[in-house]
This record gives sequence, C-alpha cells and structure tokens, in this order.
Amino acid sequence: MYWNEYYECMDHNELEKIQLERFKATLERVYHNVKPYRELMQKENLRPEDINTLKDLEKLPFMKKQFLRDNYPYGLFATPMEEVVRIHSSSGTSGKPTVVGYTRNDINNWSEMVARSFTMAGVQKHDIIHNSYGYGLFTGGMGIHYGAEKLGASIVPVSGGNTKRQVMLMNDYQCSVLACTPSYALYLAEEMKNEGYKPEDSKLKCGIFGAEPWSENMRSEIEAKLGITALDIYGMSELMGPGVAMECKQKNGLHVAEDHFIIETIDPKTGEVLPYGEEGEIVFTSLTKEAFPIIRYRTGDISRIYTEKCACGRTHYRLARIEGRSDDMLIIRGVNVYPSQIEHELLSLDGIEPHYQLVVSKQGVLDTLEVQVEVSRKIAAYAASSLSSLSNHIRKKLESSLGISVFITLMEPGTIARSEGKANRIIKKVS
Ligand code: ADP
Ligand code: ZN
Repeated sequence: MYWNEYYECMDHNELEKIQLERFKATLERVYHNVKPYRELMQKENLRPEDINTLKDLEKLPFMKKQFLRDNYPYGLFATPMEEVVRIHSSSGTSGKPTVVGYTRNDINNWSEMVARSFTMAGVQKHDIIHNSYGYGLFTGGMGIHYGAEKLGASIVPVSGGNTKRQVMLMNDYQCSVLACTPSYALYLAEEMKNEGYKPEDSKLKCGIFGAEPWSENMRSEIEAKLGITALDIYGMSELMGPGVAMECKQKNGLHVAEDHFIIETIDPKTGEVLPYGEEGEIVFTSLTKEAFPIIRYRTGDISRIYTEKCACGRTHYRLARIEGRSDDMLIIRGVNVYPSQIEHELLSLDGIEPHYQLVVSKQGVLDTLEVQVEVSRKIAAYAASSLSSLSNHIRKKLESSLGISVFITLMEPGTIARSEGKANRIIKKVS
C-alpha cells in the first residue's frame, strides 16, 4: 500500500526529469532571493543558466552548517516573512542551533512525506499513534503530528517526559503505533515491564524510531521487548524534519523522498562526489522547499545510497542505516569508531542490558575508551569472579571487532541515565 503511488513508484528516469525541472526552478529562486548564496555562486562565476543537467549540480558550492550559522537567523530565507507560517530549529546537538522556516506549502509537503512514511510502515487511518517525540522547536513532535493528521490516523500528542504516565496512556488509549527515539522506546519498554504490563497485552504493533543513530541489534532488542516491528525514520531540521527518508517493511535502507530532494554522497575530506553505493557524507538539495531551500547541504551524516530496485515496489533510492554523523565519530588512537558500532557489538552479548555509555579520555597522549554497560538483573547477583569473566568476554569481543583496546565497567542495573529524547552516550573527559 502506498500513500502516493504516482511519485513513490515512478520510473527513475521519469523522476530525474522532474528533479531537473524542480531543481532549476529552485536554483533560480535561490539565486534571486538569497543573497549569501548568490554571492557564493558569483565567486565561482556561476549563474543559474549554467546548470542544465543533474550532473551540473556538482559545479555548485556546498551549503555547510557554518554558512547557516553565519546567516542566523533568517538570512537564508527565500520568501518574505508574511509567507512563513512556522519556525523550527535544530536540537543544537553540535553548537548553536540553526533556524528554519516553512511556508504553508512546505508544511503540506512535509506532512505528505510523513504520511508516506507511516503508510510504508503499514499504519492506517484506524491506528492510534502515541507520539513521544518532543513538541516544540525540535521538528520531531510537530512533524510526526501533522503527518499523522494528514494520514487520518488518531494522534496522541504526548511529547516527552513523565515516562510512567506515558506507559499508562499508551495502554489505556490502546495505541497501536509508537513514535519516538529508539533510546526512549527502550526506556518505555523497561518502564512497562516494571509496571507489570506484558507486550502481549498491549495493542502496539509497530514503532517509527529515529532522530538518533541506532544499530540493527538495537532494533531486535526493541522488537523483542515491545513485541512490535521497529522501523527507522530519518530527518533533520535543515532538510525539513522527520520523514525525509523512511525505511519500508523490507528493512533494507530508507527510501528518500526523491521528488522533494536530490541526494549525493561525497568524500567528507575532499568534497568530491562519490559513486552511489560508496560510503560517504550525504548531501541534500531541496526541490520543492519555498521558505528555506537548500542547495548541496552537507548533513555531516555518513551513509551510502542503494539504487537497486526495492521489493516493496518503490523506486526512490535508499539510504543505508546511518551509523552516525561525522562529529560523533570517535578517533581512538587513530582508529575511527562510531558509537553505534559499539552498540551493535554490545547488544549481541548475553548478560547485559542495552544501556551503555562511552567515556573517552586522554591519558598523556593516548586516547582511552571506557565502555560502561549495565549487567542484567540476574547476573548482577553473581560472584565477582563470574562478573570479571563477563567483563573480559565483552572486552575481547569489542577489541576484536573494533581493533582498539577498551576498558569495560560493568554497572548495576538501572544506573545509567535513561534518555527521553536523543540519547547522550558519549562523555568526554580531559585529564
Ligand atoms: P541536531 O542536528 O541539532 O541534532 P536535528 O534534530 O535536526 O538537530 O537532528 C538531525 C540529526 O539527527 C541528523 O543529522 C542525524 O545525525 C540524526 N538522525 C536523525 N534521524 C536519524 C536516524 N534515523 N538515524 C541516525 N541518525 C539520525
Ligand atoms: Zn522499499
């Protein structure tokens, strides 16, 4: 079942014609209405008429987060304020938040992307959606909300916080769909168990989780604990918000709404465009956005693009699960490690719970990585010798897969802080 079969299943060559047409119109508008970008183009001696094919996109300068910050708050808006109906901002995970605006059409398009995303997950009008993404400047809450309304499902706008109450509401209101960050889904699952609810008593059948990196093993964990199908949703305020890309039931990459965006992969160091399929930084160009169009926006997110046909029938290219943004990458004694890789390994082991934290510090010139992970309740009571053999086992497993040495600290169950939104798993210590 598709929300918009015409666009979602369009022949890719046909789609590219639409992309080119929309892209040229976007560039024309940006050139005339967004002075800072016009200046970037002028520096390169480029005019909109120099861009005649999708390949020509490569000639254009990138937009980077710093460019957005330099033009804070409204310097890159392409429409007058009277056409803007909504303002959001990034969560500010890395530095000063960036501000984005939406016209009525932008909100409509975004809601459509989210409605498509829900439909991809099999969500229908009769479903009741429990939305724990935060409402506010963060795009998660309201993005999901408007999309659910467009779909015609019932949305329960719970937002973040008060987890005990959320568990009660989710059960009393017989919610069938959960939308939140994957880390919060785990927290809810844990709280449900503490309150005596069993997965089989709940009406939940699927979850739409995103806004932070998570691993395949985290998916299995959440699916088992909540008795649901868990799917990945991607977005970013600078692009729009959640729903820019969504995983279908094939669970093999997230379909990008390519009638609204062009995607490229680049080498993050050189900026050179990489062939599809290769890993690199993902770059987005918007095709329909009015208030805040973006041209070659560097997301900082590392992934790869699959172009092969998907068994679901959709033709839009897919983003591989995003391991993390380049800023989150840890460099431990020269080796690059993403927290999600560590998560994936940890969650394949018995005796521990999916709650962990990474402490990175420097001892002299050497970086050290300490992995703090909770042991499961029954293990916590074991003798010290078996705990130490568990800790050795975890260490060996991580060291062989990551290629760096790590310290393991086993934590008592329930001692690592739970997150209500995006999890903060890295602690940097300077000694
Ligand atoms: P901030 O950049 O301040 O966190 P946003 O809330 O807009 O602001 O977050 C967007 C970022 O969240 C993305 O660039 C990406 O790093 C991360 N993200 C969003 N969805 C996913 C996902 N499904 N998987 C991995 N990372 C994600
Ligand atoms: Zn698919």
